Amino acid sequence: MTHYTDPTLPVPDRVADLLARMTLEEKVGQMMQLSAPDGIEEQVLEKHVGSILHASPELILQAHDLTDRTRLRIPLLVGEDAIHGHSFCDGATIFPTQLGMAASWSADLVERMARATAVEAAATGLHWTFSPVLCIARDLRWGRVGETFGEDPHLIGELASAAVRGYQGTGLADPTAVLATAKHFAGYSETQGGRDASEADISRRKLRSWFLPPFERVAREGCATFMLGYQTIDGVPITVDDWILTDVLRGEWGYTGMLVTDWDNVGRMVWEQRVQPDHVHASAAAVRAGNDMIMTTAGFFEGAQEAVARGMVAEADLDVAVSRILALKFELGLFEDPRRPDLATMGAVVGSHQDLNLEIARRSLVLLRNEGVLPLPADRPRRVAVVGPLADDPQTQLGDWAGSSGQVGAMAHGQPRAMITTVLDGLRAAVPEGWTVTYAPGASILTHVEDPEGPFFPDGQPRPPIAAPAPVDEAELAEAVAAARAADVVVAVVGDRIELVGEGRSTATLDLLGGQVALLDALAATGTPVVVVLQASKPQMLPPSAMSADAIVWAANPGMTGGRALAELLLGQIEPSGRLPISFARHVGQQPTYYNQVRGQHGTRYADLTQDPAFAFGEGLSYTTIGYEDLVIEDPDVTVDGTVRAHVTLINTGDRPALETVQVYVRDLVTSASWADRELKTFTQVEVLPGRSVRVDLAVPAGACTLVDAAGRRVVEPGGFELLVGPSSRPRDLLVAGFRITDGAAS
Ligand code: BGC
Repeated sequence: MTHYTDPTLPVPDRVADLLARMTLEEKVGQMMQLSAPDGIEEQVLEKHVGSILHASPELILQAHDLTDRTRLRIPLLVGEDAIHGHSFCDGATIFPTQLGMAASWSADLVERMARATAVEAAATGLHWTFSPVLCIARDLRWGRVGETFGEDPHLIGELASAAVRGYQGTGLADPTAVLATAKHFAGYSETQGGRDASEADISRRKLRSWFLPPFERVAREGCATFMLGYQTIDGVPITVDDWILTDVLRGEWGYTGMLVTDWDNVGRMVWEQRVQPDHVHASAAAVRAGNDMIMTTAGFFEGAQEAVARGMVAEADLDVAVSRILALKFELGLFEDPRRPDLATMGAVVGSHQDLNLEIARRSLVLLRNEGVLPLPADRPRRVAVVGPLADDPQTQLGDWAGSSGQVGAMAHGQPRAMITTVLDGLRAAVPEGWTVTYAPGASILTHVEDPEGPFFPDGQPRPPIAAPAPVDEAELAEAVAAARAADVVVAVVGDRIELVGEGRSTATLDLLGGQVALLDALAATGTPVVVVLQASKPQMLPPSAMSADAIVWAANPGMTGGRALAELLLGQIEPSGRLPISFARHVGQQPTYYNQVRGQHGTRYADLTQDPAFAFGEGLSYTTIGYEDLVIEDPDVTVDGTVRAHVTLINTGDRPALETVQVYVRDLVTSASWADRELKTFTQVEVLPGRSVRVDLAVPAGACTLVDAAGRRVVEPGGFELLVGPSSRPRDLLVAGFRITDGAAS
């Protein structure tokens, strides 16, 4: 006799048996994910929820106990935002943010980070992480830029694919595997004016050209779940966008994984977007559009049942969604073992990846300018003045989705101070014998002002206070200036704070706020060499005094070990190797500044400013000089199913080793529809020792030299192309060699 509890049966049989036993109420509940702290008893016993999020290990244990009291004992799927580490777990390893990790350009490091995060998360009872983010960051004002892998579809695809492999491990039956989530599907980042969750002005062709490819890759590679964004496109909320969800995701890509909405997307169609009159209609529309799991819309419970009663949606439509959810639970083996956290042993696992964290933090740092001041010479005692509001701000250093960043009330205290090395800590610990390190913050960034619209949003969620720029504090400033005057070198750590980062926290400017510009100006005027450390979640604009500083390092939010990594870099104990995954603007009005813009406009500058970014995608210095020579394409005539093979020689003409990121772009000379001037197609990282040269072999499949034509088809158009190879996306940095792609049939 078939029974769903029999682990020897094939998953489809178990799903069918269980589904046949479930009431409508239980099916609707199975499609729901609620925030566990909001009444777990009612959620499990009365609403029959299929999934919970934001639950502590203690709450997870309670939830499993409650499940054991339910009729069918369907195990809960426990989800959480373990984004750059197990974000909301006390004492977990918190890595650099996604954008920081992207600066390593290392799929291997991202995969190892995801594996480590999965191991820590699984030990605390999680089955599912809402990571990675595959959004393309183009408007730097958007608050969520730091959650992305940057601006380039190829780099995003490489790193996202690695993250999915790391989270899901050797397969879902592995007790340390957690389900990955490709989010936010798709086009959420293309907001108007950078405003979070606004209508995205994005055509289907533009989606196919840049925004969908990374998602397609991980869909085909088996990413277990997809999460929607918040936006509407051309009037249609993404939650009910049949073209994206049904035609593309389920149809063209054949995706069979689970689709989860974002936070209260179903409710938002009623109270925010106002495209549905009530929860009955909104629930029916969401089910019809193929959503499987409905995140945090409590009203879906009554709404969906009523919609079935009124014939607005068929119970069979719910069955499709419930089957997908149950199949995942069976594949994870949760009916046999719900993977309860073991409170006694999990402490040994949580936070146990600080060595890997340091390795990643080192690789995430990008040296953007160096007039010779770095590395600080170790041969004589020196006095270092550490200044700036972020030099010793441990929780801000961790960035969004970490500890006290605001998403989880229980973590208001943040992560343990002792696990975090700030820049000040790092320098104090790492400077050679006889050096002195002084510290003066010199400025504040912002103060809090109550939002005139009140302390809560219409859905009852707390509305954060407004962040107002802090005034210049003359006494604080004078103290930092005095410290700078008495020093041989100044390390000034400036940037943004959590109040300027994340959902609903887009910024109108990219300025360094509060007293920071006055501080940088005053430091420059002392004549002491200044190293600017920009610890900013996303590219910010530096004032002229900082753009002409002796050195500039971008550290994103470098995670718990960031201060140590930074100190090692400044002291020359490691080599700088990070490369920008995103372009930096000179002025907010230059938006967007991404490198792969479409050809064809009048001129290349604004009347009052260049369009050139301050720092371009791919840029980053080392402590040596690497020359690129002799780009040779082995056979410049390839068929569409062939491979363009080339090689280039790198020469290290300095006296330090380098880890060089060789970037390969392709330019299609004539296209049937307007297209980007150049696109990254591959990259490779090579060690080059001082005085040595290395020949690097490169390969680009001709089939990757595509464009999306005016009809929306991705095609290779035979004809002339150029291969561009070098250390950044800037045309002046790239060697160029031509090749032809011929139609296979004709050749
Ligand atoms: C965010 C998602 C996140 C979810 C759950 C939403 O507001 O957009 O990225 O995974 O909340 O916390």
